[in-house]
Order: sequence, then C-alpha cells, then structure tokens
Amino acid sequence: MSASPNNLIEARGLTRHFHLARGQTVHAVDDVSLAIEEREILGLVGESGSGKSTFGKTLIGLLDKTAGEVVYRGEKMPSRYAPRDFRRFADRIQMIFQDPYSSLNPRMTVGEIVGEPLRLHTRLSKGKVLDSVVEWLERVGLNADHMSRYPHEFSGGQRQRIGIARALIVGPEFVVSDEPISALDVSVQAQVINLLDELKSSMGLTLLFIAHDLSMVRYVSDRMAVMYLGSLVEMGQANDIFFRPKHPYTKLLVASNPEPDPEAERKRPYTPIRGEIPSPVNIGPGCRFASRCPKVMDVCKSETPEFIPLVDSESGNARQVACHLYSA
Ligand code: SF4
Repeated sequence: MSASPNNLIEARGLTRHFHLARGQTVHAVDDVSLAIEEREILGLVGESGSGKSTFGKTLIGLLDKTAGEVVYRGEKMPSRYAPRDFRRFADRIQMIFQDPYSSLNPRMTVGEIVGEPLRLHTRLSKGKVLDSVVEWLERVGLNADHMSRYPHEFSGGQRQRIGIARALIVGPEFVVSDEPISALDVSVQAQVINLLDELKSSMGLTLLFIAHDLSMVRYVSDRMAVMYLGSLVEMGQANDIFFRPKHPYTKLLVASNPEPDPEAERKRPYTPIRGEIPSPVNIGPGCRFASRCPKVMDVCKSETPEFIPLVDSESGNARQVACHLYSA
C-alpha cells in the first residue's frame, strides 16, 4: 500500500487476535491494510461478526493490536498509550459509539456528558466549556435547555446526537463512527446521516463509517471497504463497489441489501447469503468465504487469495479484490 502524503491514517497489516483457553485463537482482525485520506469518508461494511468494530477500535488504540502498525500523519502510533500519548491523540481522534443507550453515563447530565472531553483534554475555563456545550447542542439540533437533563429523558435519535456532540466538541480530525444508526428508527436514521454529512462538510472531518446497510454507506462514503471474517475482501470507490461488485461476497451483500422503496423491495428476488458466518476461531489457509461461496474452486480451499488491483470497467477508477476468480 502506498504512503500518500494525503493519508491521514493508515493501517498496515493490522491484526487483533483474542486468545481463548486450550490454545484457541479468535482471528477477529487479520492483516488489514488500508489508508484513509484527509477529508475522506471510508465506509466499512460486512455482516455482524466480520470484525468491523474490532478493527475500528484497534485502529484508534481502544484495543491493543496483536500485530501490524497504525500510522497517523506519517507518525507511528504507540502500541499502548502512555498518558502523554493519550493527550497527544485524544483530542484529534474520537469515536461515535453504536449504542446511544449504553454509551452515555446515566448519572451525568447532558451538559456534563458533552463537556467532559473539553474538561479532560483542554485547559478551557468553566465559562468557555459551557459556551462550547451550548454551541454543540445547537449544532446537533438540541438546545441549552437540554443541558440539565439526563440521558434517559431523550429519544434514541436525540441520544445519538448527544454522543455526536460529545465526540466532536474537541474538534477531532478523525472519527470512527461505529454503526451510528443501527439502533435507531428508520425515520431518525436519515436525520443522523444528514447531520454527519453536514458536519463532515463544515468541519472537514475524516471518517471511518462502520455499518452493515450498504445503501446508507454508499450515500455517505467516498470509498467502501468490505470485510469478511476479519479480512478485507474488496475495496474501491463506493459507487463502483455498490453498482459493480466483483467479489462473490460483496455481490451477495449487495443483492441482499433491502430496497428503500417498499414496493421495489416486495418485487425484489430474495437472494440470501448461504449459511452463517463461520467461527473466527483457529482459521486455516484458503479463502475465508469458501464455505459459503457459490463460485468456490479447489484452489480456494488451500490458497489464501491476495488483493488484486483492478480498474473499474465504467468509471476507470482503481479498485482491489481478494478472490482467485480474478487471478491472472
Ligand atoms: Fe469464492 Fe474462491 Fe473467490 Fe473465495 S477465492 S470468493 S471461494 S471464488
């Protein structure tokens, strides 16, 4: 992978394993390399259990990595944060969590929750923190009257807005947004997506947008990466991947993605992905998708496919796919 000067953050062979009793290893994330350019939104998609959230947390140091490295603005990030490292990166990198119900401390008021990162990571006066909290509550569609209330007094969509205000109040450069809409009603999802889109434009944010709804990811993202059982299988411009998927897994993901229009959804042929995602424990050689792939060949069971560079037939953009079907 090239180290472009435009890259804000790069994962190089990033790996996160969990060791179980009796010598078993969970391959949650295996040898993932990707780069996200400044002001870019990279959508990371895959079924639940594919390792997307673990990758996001390992990328920003919330989980220790097993192998590989993370480079931020050309500087290798430490494996473990010492307090001085934490101060250096904490105001530049933030995370928006999946579950707006459990990620907010129920004993703190909304004002305390949103202002906490400023109190922890800056030396701003109480008055400046308060001004900033009010400003951010208004930016996410809430107001100063909400400051003295507690999280349980808000709807799911409002709580996600509180989480977004808390993550962005320190003015981060890079945000990992982990399934930010999956716990919300469909009607509220669009509002939160539009809010993130507006904040991306106004703040110049760089975002890793983790989700399983492909059409939502296509709408929000510049590029899209597809993950299966801890590995990347396809990556390219979001529209190229969505409209012309190459990897058999991506094709099935796109085909099983619900249509937003209920009438079109009713007429759509049902194409489920066969079987369950296999266990990530003690994975052997070969393609990880082989047990479910409709195109499986003998070679797939013994040789792990490498990423192959391709050129999209319509857009001419570069893209990559890890599948023996595209080997020369
Ligand atoms: Fe299917 Fe083989 Fe391609 Fe894997 S490498 S996706 S098993 S065709």
